[in-house]
Amino acid sequence: MSKRPDGRKVDEMRDIEAKVGVIEEADGSAMFRIGNTIAVAGVYGPKKVVPRHLEDPEKAILKCYYDMYSFSVPERKRPGPDRRSIELSMVIKNALAPAIFLKEYPKTQIEVFVSIIQADAGTRCAAISAAAMALADAGIAMKDMVAAVAAGHVNGEVVIDLNKEEEDIEGTSDIPMAYMPRTKKITLLQLDGKLPNDKLKAVMELGTKSCEAVYEVEKKALKEKYTPAESE
Ligand code: ADP
Repeated sequence: MSKRPDGRKVDEMRDIEAKVGVIEEADGSAMFRIGNTIAVAGVYGPKKVVPRHLEDPEKAILKCYYDMYSFSVPERKRPGPDRRSIELSMVIKNALAPAIFLKEYPKTQIEVFVSIIQADAGTRCAAISAAAMALADAGIAMKDMVAAVAAGHVNGEVVIDLNKEEEDIEGTSDIPMAYMPRTKKITLLQLDGKLPNDKLKAVMELGTKSCEAVYEVEKKALKEKYTPAESE
C-alpha cells in the first residue's frame, strides 16, 4: 500500500496539464500545471540588449526572472524579489541555457519571465518546463527541449514529484532535476536534505524516466498549438 499522503504510487507524478500560447503579447508563452503547482512563462526576444554594455558579440544573453505571486501560497507571500527568487532565477537560467543555440543570436538578449500563480512544491521544475515550451513557442533555435520534475526520498522510499505536504515530512529530501531528453543530458540536479548513497541510482532512474514523460506532455502541448487539425 502507498505510504504517500495523497495516495499516489512512488513513481506516480501528479496530474499534469500544459498549454502553449497563453500570453497574447509575448513572443512565446506556456502554462505548465503539475497538481496544484501552476507556472506561466513568457519569452521576449531575441531583442536589443539593455543596458547596451552587457551585449555579447558572440551570443545572446539569457535572462530569467522567477516570481512567486503573493496569492500563490496559503499565507500571503511578501511580493517582489527575495533571496530565494533570485537564486531560483539563476537555477532556471542554468537549466535552460544548454538547450538554446545562443550563438545564433549574437548581440541580443532573450528574456524569460516565469510566474508561479499557485505553489504546492516543485515550482522550479514547473517553471523550467513552462519556460522551455515558451522558448520553443517563441521560435528560438533549440538543440533540445528541457523537461523537469523533482524526485525525492520520503520515509525511506524513492518517490517522484513531492507535494508540499510530502516535502514537509521530517527527513524528506527533495531532488529537483531537469533533463534534455534527446541528448540525454541533465541540466539541473539539486539535493535538499540527505540521500543515502545507495538510493542515488534509483533517484536518477526515476527522475529521468519521469522527465521523459513530462517531455511527452510538452511535445503534445506544442503540437496542439501548431497543428490544431491533428490535435483530436
Ligand atoms: P520548489 O518550489 O522548487 O520545490 P522550494 O523547495 O524552495 O522550491 O519551495 C517548496 C515549496 O514551499 C514551494 O513550492 C511552496 O509551496 C512553498 N514555499 C516556498 N516559499 C514560500 C513562502 N515564502 N511562503 C509560503 N510557502 C512557500
